[in-house]
Amino acid sequence: MSSWVFPPLPTVAVPITGSDALFPVRRVFCVGRNYAAHAREMGRDPEREAPFFFTKPADAVIPDGSTVPYPPETANFQYEMELVVAIGRDGIDIPVEHALHHVFGYAIGNDLTRRDLQLEARDKGRPWDWGKAFDNSAVIGPIRPVSEIGHPEKGRIWLAVNDVVKQDQDIADLIWSVPEIIAILSRSMAVKAGDLIYTGTPAGVGPIQAGDRVTGGIDGIGTHTLSITEARPAKAPVAS
Ligand code: MN
Repeated sequence: MSSWVFPPLPTVAVPITGSDALFPVRRVFCVGRNYAAHAREMGRDPEREAPFFFTKPADAVIPDGSTVPYPPETANFQYEMELVVAIGRDGIDIPVEHALHHVFGYAIGNDLTRRDLQLEARDKGRPWDWGKAFDNSAVIGPIRPVSEIGHPEKGRIWLAVNDVVKQDQDIADLIWSVPEIIAILSRSMAVKAGDLIYTGTPAGVGPIQAGDRVTGGIDGIGTHTLSITEARPAKAPVAS
């Protein structure tokens, strides 16, 4: 047995309400533009587009209640409140009518975004990673298992910055439902236990600054808090 040259990455873990067990994160999938009013505010026609996905690394996941530094290389750091689906069972080509059997539970999430980098990439036909998949970019609350709450189909989803409500809609307004998202995703990739799916954000996205306090939640699933601090200090030059 060989040794490691450095310790392997620890498994990213999300707490589960009512349990001491942890949910091990495998991958993070995110659905783009899944509420009609948000698609319109991003300059796109919600009626014509099939759902599309982007991803974040598992180690971008941070717990709800975190304080994050304003990220580098952006002047337009934004929040996106979302319903997160936690997958508990593997599947390929999952029929819509079986898709919910693959769900372990649900959580609130915030798909933090460097909007300027995302839109520049979008408009130049480049990958979205630098706008979406950066450090600390995937906030998630504790997972509420299906055994506890079933499969919520409606509930207020909202977010406020410094107590001013910015997003306020209902998860019933999702263009593509949770079973449809799982079915469509599983045609392209094997869906695996441990995968998280951020299902898209309602209208009202906007910037956050150092010093801001973000709150929010989804009725029946959880509440959200996030604080933003000053950017990390610039790195000192490496001595030669
Ligand atoms: Mn999003």
